[in-house]
Amino acid sequence: MTNVSVTLSGLDADWAKACRNAVTRLNFLFKQNGIAVVLSAGGSKGPTITVSTDPGIKGDAVHGRTSAESDGANRLIQAKVGLPEKVTINTPQGVRKAGTGILEIIAAHEFVHALGQAEHSSHLMAQTFYKEPGDNAAGDKLKAGGVKLPPLLLAPDTVDTLKGIWS
Ligand SMILES: [Zn+2]
Repeated sequence: MTNVSVTLSGLDADWAKACRNAVTRLNFLFKQNGIAVVLSAGGSKGPTITVSTDPGIKGDAVHGRTSAESDGANRLIQAKVGLPEKVTINTPQGVRKAGTGILEIIAAHEFVHALGQAEHSSHLMAQTFYKEPGDNAAGDKLKAGGVKLPPLLLAPDTVDTLKGIWS
């Protein structure tokens, strides 16, 4: 079992909450699927994922930016994850900030890139997401193919990829 520290650097309250939720949910899915890695928000042991917002990423983007350094077995040494400063969503009542559920999916997507899945596939690791506003921010979703997230789900190929690296 490898412990990976997730360092939240200067994030606002919404992003910090979303990242912590992503860590909790990913750890649950990793355990359920026999992926031998545990993320630890605020931890200091093991490889580190440093998360911060990046003013260079546009607010209407539903993607962050990850650069990861890995060893020969594709295991993370250290990664930097950049997140958009503010994510907005169009609703019939106008533009507002997207809910933390959407932020959780964006963060988790980048964490899985950092843990070794380079290619896009489906579910959490889809290439393209469409924003679907809820009646309020808590109901906001990202849609990819026929899947709406949250809840955060890992496609079988993502489980296989991560299992192959973290076993
Ligand atoms: Zn991606």
